[in-house]
Amino acid sequence: MKPKNIKRLQLQSKKLHARRVDKGTLAVESVSNPFASHIVTIQFEADGKVRARCTCPWAINRGVACTHIMAALEYLAVRKGRTLSFWATEAEARRQRRRLFYLTGHEDDAEGVWITSRAA
Ligand SMILES: [Zn+2]
Repeated sequence: MKPKNIKRLQLQSKKLHARRVDKGTLAVESVSNPFASHIVTIQFEADGKVRARCTCPWAINRGVACTHIMAALEYLAVRKGRTLSFWATEAEARRQRRRLFYLTGHEDDAEGVWITSRAA
């Protein structure tokens, strides 16, 4: 399940504070409750595929690319001097002519979203 308005979510995710708790594990502030956090785990694969999990209801109900995962990925990118953009389709992402990643869906790899990375 892809988010309906990925650009709006990306904007929202920019406001969320993320911190690293372990290698590949981050805690991201909850949108609905600033006193709570969601735990995001991220796994990068060699072919540019990214697998991510989050403890929020959207992710648990098989949604991909929640604001917490976006915020966690952006947090990691910023530390490497990069910034990310998220795209619903491969065509949109390819048009950017940037380094490309693919955030996979749940069971199968379909229903994921595309990520481009550029120098910050
Ligand atoms: Zn989430």
